[in-house]
Parts: sequence; C-alpha cells; structure tokens
Amino acid sequence: MGLDYDGTLVEICNRPEDAKLSRERRTTLRDLLTDERFLMVFISGRRIDELLRMLRLPPCWAVGDHGAVIRQPDGAEHLLVSGTKLHVLDRLRTMLKEVCSLDGGLWVEAKAASVAMHYRGVPPGPARAAIARAREIYQKNFRKTLVIMPMKKVVEFIVAGVTKGRALQRVHRMTGGRMPVVYFGDDATDFSAIEYAERHGRAVFVGRENKTAASCLLPNPKSVHQLLSSLIK
Ligand SMILES: [Mg+2]
Repeated sequence: MGLDYDGTLVEICNRPEDAKLSRERRTTLRDLLTDERFLMVFISGRRIDELLRMLRLPPCWAVGDHGAVIRQPDGAEHLLVSGTKLHVLDRLRTMLKEVCSLDGGLWVEAKAASVAMHYRGVPPGPARAAIARAREIYQKNFRKTLVIMPMKKVVEFIVAGVTKGRALQRVHRMTGGRMPVVYFGDDATDFSAIEYAERHGRAVFVGRENKTAASCLLPNPKSVHQLLSSLIK
C-alpha cells in the first residue's frame, strides 16, 4: 500500500511544518504497519528525514524527494539518481542563488534530486520576476536534464526520470513484487504512481474531481483515514 503524505494523509497547510498527523490517524497507520496483510510505503516530495519526522512511526518503508530516495525499514538507503545529474543540480542551485538577490524573501533549497526556489511571502512583482528569470535559466541550460514543477509558492526543478511511480515500482520489486498494489495520492506528482498501481492493483485519487488513471476517488484526507481505519481487524 503506497501512501502520499500531504493532501492524502493530512490536509494541505500553508506552512508545510503545520501539516501534522493527528494522534488518531497516526494510531491507524501504526496498526496497519503491524498487520501482516499489508506492507506500507510512504511516498512524498519532502526530504526523507522530514517525512519520517512528520510520520513519527515505527521503522517502515519510506520514499522521499519525489521518488529519489528509498529508505528501508532497517535504515538502508537507496539513491535513485546518478552522480552526473547531481552535478547539474549544483550548477542550477548556484544560478538560482543569484536570482534570489531580487528579493530578500526568496531562497533556494537543495534536495536529493531537485532544487526548489521558494517565494512564500515575497511581493507579487519580485516573485513574478524571479520565476520568469528562473524559467529562462531552465530553458537555456537544463531543459533536457531537469523537469520543472510549479507548485504552491515554490518552483521546483527535478531530475528527469525521478518519479514516485518509479520508486513505487522499485519498492514493489524489492519486496517480492507479488502483492497487489494500492496507491493513494492527490496531485500531479502522484500520477506516475497512480498509473503503476492501476497496472498492478488499484489507485485512489484524493480530490474533488478525478482526471487521472485512478479507478477510485476519495474527496479528502479525512475520507482516506476512514477507509484505512475500516481495514483494521
Ligand atoms: Mg500530495
């Protein structure tokens, strides 16, 4: 069972650090982790350590950085990005740091397989100028190696080929590959995992309107929790 975090297990918050699991939801996940009928894997765009800190669960499978890092329950980690691609990210990070001189509120975050430019709290004028400049840099230098992902108050550049779907497939194989897959996700970064799950089981899209390959739809994280808790014996 693959589960996205933000927007799937918890409601989206303005500040990512506020998107905390309630005690009730954490108990449900804990119960499912000890149920041998299921093998759970948590898959998020967040850094792996941040994801594990938000989950605060016993050792489990987890995927961070949009699918770039797989952490096994025993702590072993797998990075699904090659060294040359990491060098490309370094170059982009340096260039984006220059863009950040447009406004003091802009900042660059380096992750395992992506670089993110944050503009929360930046006035619309400088924010627009920074995004335009970042896109220009991307088009000129990184179009072939990175994928651009505009999100809420962040523009993120991710190594091409790094997806949650690929990570889900990898975890599925590492765990024997015979169990059917169920995946829950709520946004564009989940589409690859939704497609993989539909080929090997079922996917659930979390949102009002399903425009994905998922054959099931749940309206919000609350309804995901209701479904998960109904699975407990
Ligand atoms: Mg999400």
